[in-house]
Amino acid sequence: MTIEKVVNKYKKSEKQPNEVWANIEMDELRRKECLCLNCERTKNVVEIPYSPCPVAKQIYELCVKNDMAIAITRCGVTNDLGTLMYVPREK
Ligand code: SF4
Repeated sequence: MTIEKVVNKYKKSEKQPNEVWANIEMDELRRKECLCLNCERTKNVVEIPYSPCPVAKQIYELCVKNDMAIAITRCGVTNDLGTLMYVPREK
């Protein structure tokens, strides 16, 4: 695991740091796999942030705001009917 300080590319104010800590290897994986690692709902999505899921969009926006990365490994998001939105990825 490689953790380094990298440029905070989402810095918007003087209060925010110029650099943030990052796991460089996970950053690369995240670009390939996106935040919701195992959810089929994100498959074949060319738009960012993950338009088929409003919660994924919120996660994405939180990450952009704070220059952070989250890997989602469990999900209990439901739609208006109470149905789970998570779609297990095919193996
Ligand atoms: S249902 Fe859950 S795992 Fe799937 S895209 Fe939405 S937030 Fe991510």
